[in-house]
Amino acid sequence: MVTPAAGVGAVLRRAAGDGAVRPATARDRVAGVQPSWVVRPQAVEQVAAVVQAADARGWSVVPRGGGGGMAGGAAPSRCDLVLDLTGLDRVIEHVPGDLVVAVEAGVTLAALQDRLGPAGRQRLMLDAPPPPRGPAPTLGGLVAAAAAGPRRHRYGTPRDLLLGARFVLADGTVARTGGRVVKNVAGYDLCKLLVGSRGTLAVVVELTLKLHPAPAAAAMVTVERVAAPDLVPLVALVRRSPAVVTAAEALWPERSVLLRVEGPPRVAAGEAALLARAVGGRVLAPEAGERGWSRCLRRPWAGRGAVVAVAVAPGRVGELAACAEALACPAALRIGLGVGLVRTADDPTALDRLRDAVEAMGGCCDPQRVSPIGAERVASRPPAGALRLMAEVRRRFDPHGTLAPGRLAWGGP
Ligand SMILES: Cc1cc2nc3c(=O)[nH]c(=O)nc-3n(C[C@H](O)[C@H](O)[C@H](O)COP(=O)(O)OP(=O)(O)OC[C@H]3O[C@@H](n4cnc5c(N)ncnc54)[C@H](O)[C@@H]3O)c2cc1C
Repeated sequence: MVTPAAGVGAVLRRAAGDGAVRPATARDRVAGVQPSWVVRPQAVEQVAAVVQAADARGWSVVPRGGGGGMAGGAAPSRCDLVLDLTGLDRVIEHVPGDLVVAVEAGVTLAALQDRLGPAGRQRLMLDAPPPPRGPAPTLGGLVAAAAAGPRRHRYGTPRDLLLGARFVLADGTVARTGGRVVKNVAGYDLCKLLVGSRGTLAVVVELTLKLHPAPAAAAMVTVERVAAPDLVPLVALVRRSPAVVTAAEALWPERSVLLRVEGPPRVAAGEAALLARAVGGRVLAPEAGERGWSRCLRRPWAGRGAVVAVAVAPGRVGELAACAEALACPAALRIGLGVGLVRTADDPTALDRLRDAVEAMGGCCDPQRVSPIGAERVASRPPAGALRLMAEVRRRFDPHGTLAPGRLAWGGP
Protein backbone atom coordinates (compact mmCIF):
# COMPACT_ATOMS: atom_id res chain seq x y z
CA MET A 1 0.00 0.00 0.00
CA VAL A 2 1.22 3.51 -0.77
CA THR A 3 1.96 5.36 2.47
CA PRO A 4 0.43 8.83 2.79
CA ALA A 5 3.88 10.36 2.24
CA ALA A 6 4.16 13.94 1.01
CA GLY A 7 5.96 12.85 -2.19
CA VAL A 8 3.00 10.76 -3.31
CA GLY A 9 0.60 13.61 -2.61
CA ALA A 10 2.78 15.90 -4.69
CA VAL A 11 2.69 13.52 -7.68
CA LEU A 12 -1.10 13.26 -7.42
CA ARG A 13 -1.53 17.04 -7.01
CA ARG A 14 0.58 17.62 -10.10
CA ALA A 15 -1.72 15.25 -12.01
CA ALA A 16 -5.10 16.37 -10.68
CA GLY A 17 -4.51 19.85 -9.30
CA ASP A 18 -4.33 21.32 -5.81
CA GLY A 19 -7.48 20.66 -3.83
CA ALA A 20 -8.24 17.45 -5.71
CA VAL A 21 -6.18 15.22 -3.41
CA ARG A 22 -6.71 14.21 0.20
CA PRO A 23 -5.60 11.39 2.48
CA ALA A 24 -8.21 8.63 2.63
CA THR A 25 -10.23 7.99 5.80
CA ALA A 26 -11.97 4.84 7.04
CA ARG A 27 -15.09 5.94 5.15
CA ASP A 28 -13.20 5.52 1.88
CA ARG A 29 -12.56 1.81 2.42
CA VAL A 30 -13.38 -0.39 -0.53
CA ALA A 31 -14.95 -3.65 0.66
CA GLY A 32 -12.87 -3.46 3.83
CA VAL A 33 -9.60 -2.45 2.14
CA GLN A 34 -8.15 0.87 3.28
CA PRO A 35 -6.80 3.11 0.49
CA SER A 36 -4.18 5.79 1.20
CA TRP A 37 -5.44 8.61 -1.01
CA VAL A 38 -8.64 9.92 -2.58
CA VAL A 39 -8.30 11.94 -5.77
CA ARG A 40 -11.25 13.87 -7.20
CA PRO A 41 -10.33 15.24 -10.64
CA GLN A 42 -12.55 17.70 -12.47
CA ALA A 43 -11.42 17.03 -16.03
CA VAL A 44 -10.77 14.00 -18.21
CA GLU A 45 -7.14 15.02 -18.72
CA GLN A 46 -6.64 14.98 -14.95
CA VAL A 47 -8.14 11.48 -14.70
CA ALA A 48 -5.74 10.33 -17.42
CA ALA A 49 -2.74 11.94 -15.68
CA VAL A 50 -3.62 10.32 -12.32
CA VAL A 51 -4.09 6.87 -13.84
CA GLN A 52 -0.88 7.16 -15.86
CA ALA A 53 1.11 8.26 -12.80
CA ALA A 54 -0.32 5.39 -10.77
CA ASP A 55 0.34 2.80 -13.49
CA ALA A 56 3.94 3.96 -13.88
CA ARG A 57 4.56 3.66 -10.13
CA GLY A 58 2.67 0.42 -9.44
CA TRP A 59 -0.14 2.04 -7.43
CA SER A 60 -3.58 0.46 -7.74
CA VAL A 61 -6.61 2.63 -8.51
CA VAL A 62 -10.26 1.91 -7.70
CA PRO A 63 -12.77 4.21 -9.45
CA ARG A 64 -15.77 5.41 -7.43
CA GLY A 65 -18.96 7.22 -8.43
CA GLY A 66 -21.56 7.90 -5.75
CA GLY A 67 -20.06 5.07 -3.70
CA GLY A 68 -23.44 3.41 -3.04
CA GLY A 69 -22.51 0.18 -4.82
CA MET A 70 -18.94 -0.30 -3.62
CA ALA A 71 -20.03 -3.31 -1.53
CA GLY A 72 -20.78 -5.26 -4.72
CA GLY A 73 -18.00 -7.46 -6.04
CA ALA A 74 -15.03 -8.79 -4.10
CA ALA A 75 -12.51 -6.86 -2.04
CA PRO A 76 -9.73 -5.46 -4.22
CA SER A 77 -6.43 -7.28 -3.77
CA ARG A 78 -4.78 -3.82 -3.54
CA CYS A 79 -6.20 -0.32 -3.32
CA ASP A 80 -3.82 2.62 -3.09
CA LEU A 81 -6.02 5.34 -4.58
CA VAL A 82 -9.73 5.85 -4.78
CA LEU A 83 -10.48 7.84 -7.92
CA ASP A 84 -13.65 9.80 -7.15
CA LEU A 85 -15.42 10.62 -10.43
CA THR A 86 -18.11 12.91 -9.01
CA GLY A 87 -16.15 15.99 -10.13
CA LEU A 88 -16.91 15.03 -13.75
CA ASP A 89 -20.49 16.26 -13.56
CA ARG A 90 -21.31 18.01 -16.83
CA VAL A 91 -24.13 17.16 -19.19
CA ILE A 92 -22.15 17.56 -22.41
CA GLU A 93 -24.86 17.48 -25.06
CA HIS A 94 -28.55 16.63 -25.26
CA VAL A 95 -29.91 16.08 -28.75
CA PRO A 96 -33.69 15.71 -28.23
CA GLY A 97 -34.33 14.98 -31.92
CA ASP A 98 -32.04 11.94 -31.77
CA LEU A 99 -33.13 10.89 -28.25
CA VAL A 100 -29.48 10.92 -27.21
CA VAL A 101 -27.56 12.52 -24.37
CA ALA A 102 -23.80 12.70 -23.72
CA VAL A 103 -22.74 13.12 -20.09
CA GLU A 104 -19.68 12.93 -17.94
CA ALA A 105 -19.50 9.81 -15.78
CA GLY A 106 -20.04 11.62 -12.47
CA VAL A 107 -23.45 13.05 -13.38
CA THR A 108 -26.04 11.50 -11.09
CA LEU A 109 -29.08 9.78 -12.56
CA ALA A 110 -31.32 12.15 -10.58
CA ALA A 111 -29.55 15.24 -11.94
CA LEU A 112 -29.85 13.94 -15.49
CA GLN A 113 -33.57 13.15 -15.15
CA ASP A 114 -34.18 16.64 -13.71
CA ARG A 115 -32.37 18.16 -16.62
CA LEU A 116 -34.21 16.08 -19.23
CA GLY A 117 -37.70 16.26 -17.74
CA PRO A 118 -38.88 19.81 -18.29
CA ALA A 119 -36.68 20.63 -21.30
CA GLY A 120 -37.06 17.74 -23.69
CA ARG A 121 -39.66 15.62 -21.89
CA GLN A 122 -37.30 12.71 -22.25
CA ARG A 123 -35.94 10.20 -19.82
CA LEU A 124 -33.14 7.70 -19.34
CA MET A 125 -34.97 4.48 -18.58
CA LEU A 126 -32.83 3.30 -15.69
CA ASP A 127 -34.09 3.01 -12.12
CA ALA A 128 -32.27 4.10 -9.02
CA PRO A 129 -32.76 3.80 -5.28
CA PRO A 130 -35.56 6.14 -4.21
CA PRO A 131 -34.21 9.01 -2.06
CA PRO A 132 -33.23 9.51 0.69
CA ARG A 133 -31.43 6.13 0.76
CA GLY A 134 -27.68 6.51 0.48
CA PRO A 135 -25.57 8.49 -1.98
CA ALA A 136 -27.06 9.32 -5.38
CA PRO A 137 -25.85 6.83 -8.01
CA THR A 138 -23.82 8.24 -10.89
CA LEU A 139 -24.21 7.19 -14.49
CA GLY A 140 -20.63 5.87 -14.56
CA GLY A 141 -21.34 3.79 -11.44
CA LEU A 142 -24.61 2.41 -12.81
CA VAL A 143 -22.94 1.41 -16.07
CA ALA A 144 -19.83 -0.05 -14.40
CA ALA A 145 -22.03 -2.09 -12.05
CA ALA A 146 -24.58 -2.98 -14.79
CA ALA A 147 -27.25 -1.90 -12.32
CA ALA A 148 -30.83 -2.09 -13.52
CA GLY A 149 -34.13 -1.94 -11.67
CA PRO A 150 -37.69 -3.06 -12.45
CA ARG A 151 -37.92 -1.19 -15.78
CA ARG A 152 -35.39 -3.69 -17.10
CA HIS A 153 -38.47 -5.70 -18.12
CA ARG A 154 -39.08 -3.29 -21.02
CA TYR A 155 -35.90 -1.25 -21.47
CA GLY A 156 -33.09 -3.65 -20.60
CA THR A 157 -29.94 -2.82 -18.66
CA PRO A 158 -27.24 -0.17 -19.19
CA ARG A 159 -25.93 -2.56 -21.87
CA ASP A 160 -29.01 -1.75 -23.97
CA LEU A 161 -28.94 1.99 -23.32
CA LEU A 162 -25.23 2.75 -23.68
CA LEU A 163 -24.44 3.91 -27.21
CA GLY A 164 -20.88 5.08 -26.70
CA ALA A 165 -18.27 5.83 -24.08
CA ARG A 166 -15.02 7.67 -23.54
CA PHE A 167 -12.68 6.01 -21.11
CA VAL A 168 -9.18 6.09 -19.68
CA LEU A 169 -7.10 2.94 -20.03
CA ALA A 170 -4.63 1.83 -17.36
CA ASP A 171 -1.68 3.50 -19.14
CA GLY A 172 -3.52 6.83 -19.23
CA THR A 173 -4.62 6.62 -22.88
CA VAL A 174 -8.00 8.29 -23.46
CA ALA A 175 -10.12 6.32 -25.96
CA ARG A 176 -13.65 6.35 -27.33
CA THR A 177 -15.99 3.60 -28.44
CA GLY A 178 -19.37 3.46 -30.15
CA GLY A 179 -21.86 6.31 -30.50
CA ARG A 180 -20.00 9.45 -31.38
CA VAL A 181 -17.03 7.93 -33.20
CA VAL A 182 -16.40 6.94 -36.75
CA LYS A 183 -14.40 3.80 -36.07
CA ASN A 184 -14.66 1.30 -33.25
CA VAL A 185 -11.57 -0.48 -31.91
CA ALA A 186 -11.33 -3.66 -33.94
CA GLY A 187 -11.97 -6.95 -32.18
CA TYR A 188 -13.87 -5.98 -29.01
CA ASP A 189 -17.35 -4.53 -28.50
CA LEU A 190 -15.97 -2.15 -25.91
CA CYS A 191 -19.27 -0.62 -24.82
CA LYS A 192 -20.59 -4.03 -23.86
CA LEU A 193 -17.31 -4.96 -22.16
CA LEU A 194 -17.36 -1.85 -20.00
CA VAL A 195 -20.88 -2.54 -18.69
CA GLY A 196 -20.49 -4.49 -15.47
CA SER A 197 -16.68 -4.34 -15.54
CA ARG A 198 -16.63 -2.65 -12.10
CA GLY A 199 -13.65 -0.49 -12.96
CA THR A 200 -11.40 -3.42 -13.84
CA LEU A 201 -10.91 -2.58 -17.54
CA ALA A 202 -10.94 1.22 -17.73
CA VAL A 203 -12.16 4.35 -15.99
CA VAL A 204 -15.30 5.49 -17.76
CA VAL A 205 -15.28 9.29 -18.12
CA GLU A 206 -18.09 10.03 -20.60
CA LEU A 207 -21.17 8.18 -21.74
CA THR A 208 -23.52 8.57 -24.68
CA LEU A 209 -26.91 7.20 -23.72
CA LYS A 210 -30.14 6.40 -25.51
CA LEU A 211 -33.24 8.19 -24.18
CA HIS A 212 -36.97 7.51 -24.41
CA PRO A 213 -39.95 9.85 -24.33
CA ALA A 214 -40.87 10.55 -20.70
CA PRO A 215 -44.21 8.89 -19.90
CA ALA A 216 -46.75 11.40 -18.67
CA ALA A 217 -48.51 8.92 -16.39
CA ALA A 218 -48.26 5.45 -14.93
CA ALA A 219 -50.66 2.89 -13.52
CA MET A 220 -49.98 -0.16 -11.39
CA VAL A 221 -51.85 -3.46 -11.51
CA THR A 222 -51.54 -5.94 -8.68
CA VAL A 223 -52.20 -9.67 -8.50
CA GLU A 224 -52.26 -11.00 -4.95
CA ARG A 225 -51.70 -14.43 -3.40
CA VAL A 226 -49.91 -15.82 -6.44
CA ALA A 227 -48.54 -19.34 -6.00
CA ALA A 228 -44.95 -19.81 -7.17
CA PRO A 229 -45.87 -22.35 -9.92
CA ASP A 230 -48.36 -19.82 -11.35
CA LEU A 231 -45.71 -17.20 -12.11
CA VAL A 232 -44.73 -18.53 -15.54
CA PRO A 233 -48.36 -18.86 -16.74
CA LEU A 234 -48.94 -15.33 -15.41
CA VAL A 235 -46.06 -14.02 -17.53
CA ALA A 236 -47.68 -15.67 -20.57
CA LEU A 237 -50.94 -13.79 -19.83
CA VAL A 238 -49.02 -10.51 -19.48
CA ARG A 239 -47.33 -11.09 -22.83
CA ARG A 240 -50.63 -11.90 -24.56
CA SER A 241 -52.36 -8.78 -23.21
CA PRO A 242 -52.29 -5.72 -25.49
CA ALA A 243 -50.79 -3.58 -22.68
CA VAL A 244 -47.14 -2.53 -22.96
CA VAL A 245 -45.79 -3.46 -19.54
CA THR A 246 -42.68 -1.63 -18.33
CA ALA A 247 -42.10 -3.61 -15.14
CA ALA A 248 -43.31 -7.00 -13.88
CA GLU A 249 -42.13 -7.70 -10.34
CA ALA A 250 -42.99 -10.54 -8.00
CA LEU A 251 -42.44 -9.54 -4.39
CA TRP A 252 -41.82 -12.53 -2.18
CA PRO A 253 -42.74 -13.75 0.46
CA GLU A 254 -45.86 -11.57 0.04
CA ARG A 255 -46.66 -13.53 -3.14
CA SER A 256 -47.79 -10.39 -4.86
CA VAL A 257 -47.08 -9.42 -8.45
CA LEU A 258 -46.94 -5.76 -9.47
CA LEU A 259 -47.20 -4.72 -13.10
CA ARG A 260 -46.52 -1.20 -14.33
CA VAL A 261 -47.93 0.48 -17.42
CA GLU A 262 -46.67 3.91 -18.52
CA GLY A 263 -47.78 6.37 -21.18
CA PRO A 264 -50.19 9.26 -21.77
CA PRO A 265 -52.77 9.29 -18.90
CA ARG A 266 -55.68 7.79 -20.86
CA VAL A 267 -53.50 5.15 -22.50
CA ALA A 268 -51.94 4.10 -19.18
CA ALA A 269 -55.37 3.90 -17.51
CA GLY A 270 -56.91 1.98 -20.43
CA GLU A 271 -54.04 -0.48 -20.73
CA ALA A 272 -53.97 -1.06 -16.97
CA ALA A 273 -57.70 -1.94 -17.03
CA LEU A 274 -57.16 -4.39 -19.91
CA LEU A 275 -54.15 -5.88 -18.20
CA ALA A 276 -55.96 -6.31 -14.88
CA ARG A 277 -58.74 -8.21 -16.65
CA ALA A 278 -56.25 -10.38 -18.52
CA VAL A 279 -54.30 -11.45 -15.43
CA GLY A 280 -57.13 -11.54 -12.88
CA GLY A 281 -55.70 -8.60 -10.92
CA ARG A 282 -56.84 -5.10 -10.04
CA VAL A 283 -55.70 -1.59 -10.85
CA LEU A 284 -54.32 0.22 -7.81
CA ALA A 285 -55.53 3.74 -6.97
CA PRO A 286 -52.77 6.32 -7.73
CA GLU A 287 -51.44 6.63 -4.17
CA ALA A 288 -51.42 2.89 -3.57
CA GLY A 289 -49.77 2.51 -6.98
CA GLU A 290 -46.97 4.89 -5.99
CA ARG A 291 -46.46 2.99 -2.75
CA GLY A 292 -46.32 -0.27 -4.70
CA TRP A 293 -43.76 1.16 -7.12
CA SER A 294 -41.65 2.42 -4.24
CA ARG A 295 -41.73 -1.09 -2.73
CA CYS A 296 -40.48 -2.50 -6.04
CA LEU A 297 -37.57 -0.03 -6.05
CA ARG A 298 -36.61 -0.67 -2.42
CA ARG A 299 -36.99 -4.43 -2.37
CA PRO A 300 -34.88 -6.16 -1.19
CA TRP A 301 -32.32 -3.41 -0.46
CA ALA A 302 -34.22 -2.05 2.53
CA GLY A 303 -33.23 -4.16 5.52
CA ARG A 304 -30.04 -5.69 6.79
CA GLY A 305 -28.20 -8.58 5.21
CA ALA A 306 -26.59 -9.55 1.92
CA VAL A 307 -28.23 -8.61 -1.38
CA VAL A 308 -27.53 -11.04 -4.19
CA ALA A 309 -28.57 -10.78 -7.84
CA VAL A 310 -29.86 -14.10 -9.16
CA ALA A 311 -30.56 -15.28 -12.69
CA VAL A 312 -32.23 -18.43 -14.02
CA ALA A 313 -33.89 -19.35 -17.32
CA PRO A 314 -37.17 -17.36 -17.49
CA GLY A 315 -39.21 -20.60 -17.45
CA ARG A 316 -37.80 -21.42 -13.98
CA VAL A 317 -38.78 -18.20 -12.24
CA GLY A 318 -41.50 -20.07 -10.30
CA GLU A 319 -38.83 -22.39 -8.88
CA LEU A 320 -36.77 -19.34 -7.97
CA ALA A 321 -39.71 -17.89 -6.01
CA ALA A 322 -40.26 -21.24 -4.28
CA CYS A 323 -36.57 -21.33 -3.39
CA ALA A 324 -36.69 -17.79 -1.91
CA GLU A 325 -39.72 -18.88 0.10
CA ALA A 326 -38.07 -22.07 1.33
CA LEU A 327 -34.97 -20.15 2.40
CA ALA A 328 -37.11 -17.35 3.94
CA CYS A 329 -35.35 -14.73 1.81
CA PRO A 330 -37.19 -11.56 0.76
CA ALA A 331 -36.98 -11.25 -3.00
CA ALA A 332 -37.93 -9.05 -5.93
CA LEU A 333 -38.11 -11.15 -9.08
CA ARG A 334 -38.34 -9.73 -12.60
CA ILE A 335 -40.67 -12.49 -13.66
CA GLY A 336 -40.52 -11.92 -17.41
CA LEU A 337 -36.75 -12.24 -17.41
CA GLY A 338 -35.85 -14.84 -14.79
CA VAL A 339 -33.67 -12.39 -12.87
CA GLY A 340 -34.05 -10.75 -9.48
CA LEU A 341 -32.60 -9.71 -6.18
CA VAL A 342 -32.66 -11.79 -3.03
CA ARG A 343 -31.73 -10.75 0.49
CA THR A 344 -30.25 -13.27 2.88
CA ALA A 345 -28.16 -13.36 6.02
CA ASP A 346 -24.55 -12.38 5.30
CA ASP A 347 -23.15 -15.59 6.73
CA PRO A 348 -21.43 -18.52 5.02
CA THR A 349 -24.22 -21.04 5.62
CA ALA A 350 -27.00 -18.84 4.25
CA LEU A 351 -24.94 -17.69 1.26
CA ASP A 352 -23.86 -21.25 0.39
CA ARG A 353 -27.46 -22.43 0.60
CA LEU A 354 -28.66 -19.69 -1.73
CA ARG A 355 -25.87 -20.24 -4.28
CA ASP A 356 -26.30 -24.04 -4.25
CA ALA A 357 -30.06 -23.75 -4.75
CA VAL A 358 -29.77 -21.25 -7.62
CA GLU A 359 -26.99 -23.20 -9.32
CA ALA A 360 -29.05 -26.40 -9.00
CA MET A 361 -31.62 -24.60 -11.20
CA GLY A 362 -28.89 -23.92 -13.77
CA GLY A 363 -28.74 -20.30 -12.62
CA CYS A 364 -26.08 -18.04 -11.14
CA CYS A 365 -25.54 -15.55 -8.31
CA ASP A 366 -23.78 -12.18 -8.37
CA PRO A 367 -23.15 -10.33 -5.08
CA GLN A 368 -24.51 -6.77 -4.94
CA ARG A 369 -24.17 -5.83 -1.27
CA VAL A 370 -22.23 -8.49 0.56
CA SER A 371 -19.29 -8.59 2.96
CA PRO A 372 -15.99 -9.24 1.12
CA ILE A 373 -15.72 -12.85 2.33
CA GLY A 374 -19.39 -13.47 1.59
CA ALA A 375 -19.02 -12.03 -1.91
CA GLU A 376 -16.38 -14.57 -2.88
CA ARG A 377 -18.51 -17.30 -1.39
CA VAL A 378 -21.79 -16.54 -3.08
CA ALA A 379 -20.51 -15.50 -6.53
CA SER A 380 -21.09 -18.16 -9.16
CA ARG A 381 -17.89 -19.01 -10.93
CA PRO A 382 -18.00 -18.75 -14.72
CA PRO A 383 -16.89 -21.83 -16.69
CA ALA A 384 -13.11 -22.26 -17.00
CA GLY A 385 -13.06 -21.20 -20.67
CA ALA A 386 -14.92 -17.96 -19.93
CA LEU A 387 -12.59 -17.26 -16.99
CA ARG A 388 -9.54 -17.67 -19.19
CA LEU A 389 -11.02 -15.34 -21.78
CA MET A 390 -11.86 -12.69 -19.17
CA ALA A 391 -8.37 -12.91 -17.67
CA GLU A 392 -6.86 -12.46 -21.13
CA VAL A 393 -9.05 -9.42 -21.90
CA ARG A 394 -8.07 -7.91 -18.59
CA ARG A 395 -4.38 -8.53 -19.27
CA ARG A 396 -4.66 -6.77 -22.63
CA PHE A 397 -6.40 -3.76 -21.12
CA ASP A 398 -4.41 -3.50 -17.94
CA PRO A 399 -1.14 -5.49 -18.08
CA HIS A 400 0.13 -4.20 -14.70
CA GLY A 401 -3.13 -4.86 -12.83
CA THR A 402 -3.53 -1.19 -11.93
CA LEU A 403 -7.32 -0.86 -12.15
CA ALA A 404 -9.41 -2.38 -9.34
CA PRO A 405 -7.38 -5.60 -9.12
CA GLY A 406 -9.34 -8.58 -7.75
CA ARG A 407 -12.73 -6.82 -7.79
CA LEU A 408 -14.47 -9.41 -9.95
CA ALA A 409 -15.96 -11.65 -7.32
CA TRP A 410 -15.31 -15.04 -8.88
CA GLY A 411 -11.60 -14.66 -8.29
CA GLY A 412 -10.72 -12.86 -11.53
CA PRO A 413 -7.37 -11.07 -11.79
C1 LIG B 1 -33.81 0.43 -8.08
C2 LIG B 1 -32.44 0.31 -7.47
C3 LIG B 1 -32.31 0.41 -6.11
C4 LIG B 1 -31.04 0.25 -5.53
N1 LIG B 1 -30.93 0.39 -4.18
C5 LIG B 1 -29.71 0.23 -3.60
C6 LIG B 1 -29.57 0.33 -2.20
O1 LIG B 1 -30.50 0.62 -1.47
N2 LIG B 1 -28.31 0.08 -1.66
C7 LIG B 1 -27.24 -0.23 -2.47
O2 LIG B 1 -26.14 -0.48 -1.94
N3 LIG B 1 -27.35 -0.28 -3.80
C8 LIG B 1 -28.56 -0.07 -4.39
N4 LIG B 1 -28.68 -0.17 -5.74
C9 LIG B 1 -27.49 -0.46 -6.55
C10 LIG B 1 -26.71 0.84 -6.86
O3 LIG B 1 -27.58 1.80 -7.37
C11 LIG B 1 -25.67 0.51 -7.89
O4 LIG B 1 -24.69 -0.30 -7.29
C12 LIG B 1 -24.98 1.72 -8.53
O5 LIG B 1 -23.95 1.25 -9.34
C13 LIG B 1 -24.41 2.69 -7.56
O6 LIG B 1 -23.91 3.82 -8.32
P1 LIG B 1 -22.66 4.61 -7.77
O7 LIG B 1 -22.40 5.79 -8.62
O8 LIG B 1 -22.86 4.85 -6.32
O9 LIG B 1 -21.53 3.53 -8.04
P2 LIG B 1 -20.29 3.20 -7.12
O10 LIG B 1 -20.75 2.50 -5.89
O11 LIG B 1 -19.45 4.38 -6.93
O12 LIG B 1 -19.51 2.17 -8.06
C14 LIG B 1 -20.08 0.93 -8.43
C15 LIG B 1 -18.98 0.11 -9.15
O13 LIG B 1 -18.61 0.75 -10.36
C16 LIG B 1 -17.23 1.16 -10.35
N5 LIG B 1 -17.21 2.50 -10.93
C17 LIG B 1 -17.89 3.60 -10.49
N6 LIG B 1 -17.72 4.62 -11.34
C18 LIG B 1 -16.91 4.19 -12.34
C19 LIG B 1 -16.37 4.78 -13.52
N7 LIG B 1 -16.65 6.03 -13.86
N8 LIG B 1 -15.57 4.02 -14.32
C20 LIG B 1 -15.29 2.73 -14.01
N9 LIG B 1 -15.78 2.12 -12.92
C21 LIG B 1 -16.59 2.82 -12.09
C22 LIG B 1 -16.80 1.11 -8.90
O14 LIG B 1 -15.42 0.80 -8.77
C23 LIG B 1 -17.69 0.00 -8.34
O15 LIG B 1 -17.14 -1.26 -8.63
C24 LIG B 1 -29.91 0.00 -6.34
C25 LIG B 1 -30.05 -0.08 -7.73
C26 LIG B 1 -31.31 0.08 -8.29
C27 LIG B 1 -31.41 0.01 -9.79
